[in-house]
Parts: sequence; C-alpha cells; structure tokens
Amino acid sequence: MREFDAIVIGAGMSGLAAAIRLGMYEKKVCLLEKHTITGGLNSYYSRGKRRLDVGLHALTNYMEKGERGKPLAKLLKQLRLPYDSLELSPQKQSRILFPEKELVFTNDIEFLTEEIAKNFPTQVDGFLKLLTKVREFDEVNLDNEFLPAKDVVRHFIQDEMLLEMIFCPLLIYGSALEDDMDFSQFVIMFKSLYLEGFGRPEGGVRRILNLLEGKLKELGVEIEFKKSVTEILTQNNIVTGVKLESGEVIHAPLVFSSMGLPETLNKVFPAIHHQTPIGRMSFTETLYFFSQKPADMGLNDTIIFANQAPQYAYRRPDSLFQKESAVICLPNNFTHDDQSEGVIRLTHIANYDAWKALEKTEYKAQKENLHNYDFDYLNQLIQRLAPAKNAVQKTDLAFKDLFTPTTVERYTWHLGGCVYGSPEKTRRGLTPIKNLIIIGTDQGFLGIVGAMLSGISMANLYGLQGETV
Ligand SMILES: Cc1cc2nc3c(=O)[nH]c(=O)nc-3n(C[C@H](O)[C@H](O)[C@H](O)COP(=O)(O)OP(=O)(O)OC[C@H]3O[C@@H](n4cnc5c(N)ncnc54)[C@H](O)[C@@H]3O)c2cc1C
Repeated sequence: MREFDAIVIGAGMSGLAAAIRLGMYEKKVCLLEKHTITGGLNSYYSRGKRRLDVGLHALTNYMEKGERGKPLAKLLKQLRLPYDSLELSPQKQSRILFPEKELVFTNDIEFLTEEIAKNFPTQVDGFLKLLTKVREFDEVNLDNEFLPAKDVVRHFIQDEMLLEMIFCPLLIYGSALEDDMDFSQFVIMFKSLYLEGFGRPEGGVRRILNLLEGKLKELGVEIEFKKSVTEILTQNNIVTGVKLESGEVIHAPLVFSSMGLPETLNKVFPAIHHQTPIGRMSFTETLYFFSQKPADMGLNDTIIFANQAPQYAYRRPDSLFQKESAVICLPNNFTHDDQSEGVIRLTHIANYDAWKALEKTEYKAQKENLHNYDFDYLNQLIQRLAPAKNAVQKTDLAFKDLFTPTTVERYTWHLGGCVYGSPEKTRRGLTPIKNLIIIGTDQGFLGIVGAMLSGISMANLYGLQGETV
C-alpha cells in the first residue's frame, strides 16, 4: 500500500498548482487524474493537424512585466515561474453589445470610463464611485459573508441597462449563481476583467499546462493519469486516503480535491449526508476555422459579449441553448496573432438536462442545428459591426467542431456538465470531513488564474503550515 503526505485529486489548474506548492516543500505528493491529459475544464484536444483549446478564451488578470501585487504576479512568484515564460499578449479591445448600446473596454479602465461617460452620461459619477468601492473592497477575505452583488451595485448605477451591461461579462465568465453573483465574486471578476484585463499566452492553454507539468517534473512529482478516485476513505470523520477504480488504496493524512464539492462529498466512504446543490450553468461552444482572419471579416474585437435583449438572462434556458446571448471569442485579435488560420468561437448558455435527454441521432442533428444557428449569428454580427463587409459562406469554413454540456461532463466528470461549480462554495476549503480540503472552483476561486491561486492558497494554508483542520 502506498503512503503519501498528501493526495491531490485532479490535474486541472488548481490541482497542478497545489501539487507544485506541496512538492516545492518536499512533501510526498500523489497527484491523481482520471483523464489522460491535464487541464480539466481548461484543456485541449487535436483534430488532424489542428490543436483546439477547450477553455481559455483569455487569461484574465493581465499585467505588464514588473508589475507587483497583482494576482498574476503573486501566482507566478508562488510557482516560481518567470513572467516571460507565459509570452502573454494583451487583448486589443472587447465589446459588450446590447440592442441599442455598446460599450468597448480594453485593459485600461479609463477607456471603459470614457465609454460610459459617452453612452450613459448621467451614470459616470456613480461608476467612478463604484470603482472606488471595488478598489477598496477585500474580496479575498475568506470570512466575507454572501451579499447579492446587484443590490450593492444599484446603489451606484441607477440605469438598469448599464447595470446589465456591466454584469454581462462578469456573470458569464464566473458565476455559479443564476442572474446574480456574490459581491466578493463580483469584485474578483471586476478586477480580473475590467481593471486588469485579458491576455493570451502564446500557443494558448498548452503553454500554461506545459509550464506547470515541467515544474512538477523538476520537483519529481509524477502525475498519475487514468487514475479515477472512486472513494474517499475516512475513519471517525477524518480522511485517511482514497480508493481507485482499479481497487488500489492509497493512504495520506491530507486530501485536496478539485473534483467539485458535491462530486467530492458523493465519494466519501462511509457515506455522509449532504445536500450540496449541483451547479446549473453550462455551455455549448462552436469552434470555426477559416482561411481568412476575423479582421478580414470586419471583426476586430478580441471578445464580444452579445445580448439581444435589454436584460441579460444569465440562467439555464428551457431550450437546448440560449439564443439571445453569446460570447464570441476571436483569438487572432490579441496584439500578437499566434494562429495560422482565422478562429472564431461562439459560446452560449446551455441546458445540460435537455442535451442529456437526446438520443444519439437527435443529439447529432441538434449539434447541426446549433452550427446553422451560430453561422447565421456570426453573419448577423458581421452585418452589425461591419456592414460594408460581405457575409461569410459555409464553403469558407476550413473546419468546425462543437461541444455541449454533455461533452464537458464526459471529459471533466463535473455533475450536470457544470462549469462554475456548485452555487454553494466553501471559501475556507473545509468539508464535514477533517483534512479533506476543496480546491479550485468550489472553494470559490475560478477561472485559470483563480483556480491556480486557490490550489496555491489551500496548499499553503493546510499543507505547508502544519495546520490540521
Ligand atoms: C469552455 C470553457 C471556457 C473557459 N474559458 C475560460 C477563460 O477564457 N478564462 C478563464 O480564466 N477561465 C476559463 N474557463 C474556466 C476555467 O477553465 C476553470 O474555472 C478552471 O480551469 C477550473 O479549474 P479547477 O482546477 O477548479 O477544476 P477542473 O479543471 O475541473 O479540474 C478538476 C480535475 O479533476 C479531475 N477529476 C474529476 N473527477 C476525478 C476523479 N474521480 N478522480 C481523479 N480525477 C478526477 C478532472 O478530470 C479534472 O482534470 C473556461 C471553462 C470552460 C469550460
């Protein structure tokens, strides 16, 4: 029977980062991953010669070399990675597109402030006060109580359309709750997206994963692939180890799990009673590859948050996917274009149960419907943003692929294919089982940078200071 100082379940962003921190301090770490590759929700795959990213529209929390005190700087320092190793290039500009209004933002908050002054002149003073509130708020304090963010923001912003426009990117890039978010999470996302902004590591998500895997190799920590944890073993409500699908039992006095809170609690043996809800937010994504670049089509933004109604319905739709809104990611439109083809990714909020209920042939047919819808959506976008340009034709497509909530579930084992985890977070990482610690999404820190910071901070707190819980 193998024995370790700590077991880390999952080699996604949080698990990789936690294992690196523990390995740096010579802890004997066992890193178990059910899949054959790293990355989890932010992974990659290949189709022929093409390399496709699953996650990574953008790395949030952009910073320039040498900036201090920012989340990305802390992350790089903790993992001892040089800034240059990311080869980050900043976004050009992104756009929030509502029926009658548009707001463009860059990595410089002054730009968004001017856009608000231009489009919502009566609201700019309130927005400046909101900025002060956001800057002064301690969003990472683990003791913060839940506060509905829209209630707080309404004290500063009275125009409901502007409020919806400000929330739109923040919700779709990181809320496990429907239609609102916790104010701490709002501040995290506001700072990550609007105050710091978007960047792209050269080569996409693979660059980040290669760096993390390289670091683990350097430290002598092995990633054990195709190792599915089926039981988390306990004695008197204290964790003792895990059991794998193969039947192997591995012992450790400390287990970090990135599977998700309900997913983790469901595996505790002997079973415990829990009512942790499963998250409802999942997505479809259509990936298009063209020989022409988006700029040739008149699309010059990096990311477009489009919504065809005055209100933004950030909630699971009744239908397979929500037609009114989409995120359109254009990876060519970072300041450095690292793609040989034009790539366009369209993401919609989607209903996991509706996709799951489909028979195989109907599932295929519905994916084709989604493609047809998205192709028209793309042309409508071109018509609105670049009316002088010609529509693109399906014959222009070099390649396409689509994934749905059931694909997310199949490759990450998140219940309900949910991307932002349970609406119930455990900010201290604690569970009813002593020394069983939640890291990543369900500790409340998500996204690429957030999940890595979660893995780091939980490993520091519970694995490196001799603290038991
Ligand atoms: C389509 C999409 C686009 C995204 N775009 C962005 C973006 O542009 N920017 C951004 O910052 N974030 C983005 N995200 C969000 C980001 O990917 C996640 O928040 C982050 O990767 C979560 O990391 P994690 O470590 O918490 O969890 P996960 O990545 O889910 O890691 C959990 C790991 O546990 C493994 N596992 C599960 N069950 C078991 C088991 N029983 N035994 C062993 N291993 C197991 C899984 O295989 C997985 O590798 C996106 C996500 C998606 C799906």
